[in-house]
Amino acid sequence: RADAEKFEFQAEVSRLMDIIINSLYSNKDIFLRELISNASDALDKIRFLALTDKEVLGEGDNAKLEIQIKLDKEKKILSIRDRGIGMTKEDLIKNLGTIAKSGTSAFVEKMQSSGDLNLIGQFGVGFYSVYLVADYVEVISKHNDDKQYVWESKADGAFAISEDTWNEPLGRGTEIRLHLRDEAQEYLDEFKLKDLVKKYSEFINFPIYLWASKEVDVEVPADDDESSDDEEEKSDSSSSEEEEVDADKDEEEKKPKTKTIKETTYEWELLNDMKAIWLRNPKEVTDEEYTKFYHSLAKDFGEEKPMAWSHFTAEGDVEFKAVLFVPPKAPHDLYESYYNSNKSNLKLYVRRVFISDEFDELLPKYLSFLKGLVDSDTLPLNVSREMLQQHSSLKTIKKKLIRKALDMIRKLAEEDPDEATEKKDVEESKENDEKKGQYTKFWNEFGKSIKLGIIEDATNRNRLAKLLRFETSKSDGKLTSLDQYISRMKSGQKDIFYITGSSKEQLEKSPFLERLTKKNFEVIFFTDPVDEYLMQYLMDYEDKKFQNVSKEGLKLGKEPKDKELKESFKELTKWWKGVLAVENVDDVKISNRLADTPCVVVTSKYGWSANMERIMQSQTL
Ligand code: ADP
Ligand code: MG
Repeated sequence: RADAEKFEFQAEVSRLMDIIINSLYSNKDIFLRELISNASDALDKIRFLALTDKEVLGEGDNAKLEIQIKLDKEKKILSIRDRGIGMTKEDLIKNLGTIAKSGTSAFVEKMQSSGDLNLIGQFGVGFYSVYLVADYVEVISKHNDDKQYVWESKADGAFAISEDTWNEPLGRGTEIRLHLRDEAQEYLDEFKLKDLVKKYSEFINFPIYLWASKEVDVEVPADDDESSDDEEEKSDSSSSEEEEVDADKDEEEKKPKTKTIKETTYEWELLNDMKAIWLRNPKEVTDEEYTKFYHSLAKDFGEEKPMAWSHFTAEGDVEFKAVLFVPPKAPHDLYESYYNSNKSNLKLYVRRVFISDEFDELLPKYLSFLKGLVDSDTLPLNVSREMLQQHSSLKTIKKKLIRKALDMIRKLAEEDPDEATEKKDVEESKENDEKKGQYTKFWNEFGKSIKLGIIEDATNRNRLAKLLRFETSKSDGKLTSLDQYISRMKSGQKDIFYITGSSKEQLEKSPFLERLTKKNFEVIFFTDPVDEYLMQYLMDYEDKKFQNVSKEGLKLGKEPKDKELKESFKELTKWWKGVLAVENVDDVKISNRLADTPCVVVTSKYGWSANMERIMQSQTL
């Protein structure tokens, strides 16, 4: 079009589109899931605005919050329309082309290495999957604040935007027209589409309709029909003519003079039943349903099951229903953005109306790896997001969610046969086989979050400490827990011993360990940089203090206090302290912590450990 404004895609977006259009990825179906998910998001947005301002919905059909799919077999167009919030001209330019999402380059990289497009939605670039099946796409959109515009692109590095003066007015919302590629004509098949929508959109909360053909019986006057029948009979006349005429006569005598014929008509067919899984009784929801629900909620369409889930109803002052999931894997950017994002992964609903998925008041940061949904009847519906964010019920909800989340994780450990201290605790069964090693798997993906929790959440510190796993000088490369450590403590041992360093190999050689090992004490190895911070917050557990064996004050139970020994070496220690000067050491002491090594540099009780100094140095560099 001559008056269209032309734009270039942002470079990363352009690269992404190139890769998609040339992709050999076989599961091209995913484009439909992405478009329906976008339509549903847009409907959520307008429904949310309508809570405080009914006017935004308009009247008649405009107010119907629905998704419509239409096929044009002749023009080879598949179109999806929603009555959602729509996009202004500016939105179209920004959202569909010029501003790359943070996940864009991460996804391009991932696609180049794995060729797997399935997770496109998770990276926030799902829209571009349309180019798996289309070579030309039009996005027609009408936002309440702007005129109707058309965005169009052939994925050749550029897109165009024009004010829409030729299409039917949408009222409000967005229609996406896919001009299907020759090899994607299967998406013009109604049966295929019905199947896909059912598969991908089971949990979409808005009705999805297909403009579907239907064979109907139509009564037509028998006269007309008869005459044409007669003609036919005449033309291909056969020896049985007489008999047939007789049969016709019989019918005429029994029936009125009309006849039914098949005719094809079109009507909107509802494809989904909009089931809200969280409102159902947990006993009646199958594992498969939870898995599918997780996939759609998390936009995580891998094959894997979530590691665990918890579905519950909270009663009392604040009523809500919730489903929480532990994903099968940590997302690519879980800790990358940890300190500068408040993104929680919980969706908040109030009486089935989606409010937000950016409520950081629902879960603390360290649990942001969980996915899930909360639907509350107690929260008010007709207030702004800001007001809601300050609502007193949120505190209660958060408290309960944390409890339930930690219970769910504790169960993961309890049910894991590998975690059992005694063999006889474990029944042999297929179910137990599946659960074998599940906590180690959890720990490897999300252990750091538990540690951050210990640092951040004083209230639940003890509960979180129970979930800690680590290796020790005696654990033989296996993970162990504080409870297990305590059960193995020697009689007379008061403190829990640990040492920090950069690797297990380094720690095993540490002179600080010599005597403890000789005396058969077990020492915890903390090798993660975060462990240093962790141990500044974790002072004790079950009435036992933590003692860093590289720090001053190490007591190995009842030790003989040899005053004489100290006395006889007094001159040496004094001389040595003088040589090393006060700036370098605090004190020089006779120690009983060593076995073979003659001397060792120890950190004072309240000073940084050597490992902490190492970590801080690497951070300031
Ligand atoms: P995401 O949905 O993860 O944000 P997409 O690539 O699927 O990423 O979509 C990009 C953006 O385009 C959306 O965030 C939204 O702003 C806009 N968008 C896409 N489809 C629609 C639609 N049907 N109605 C309104 N806005 C839309
Ligand atoms: Mg999307």
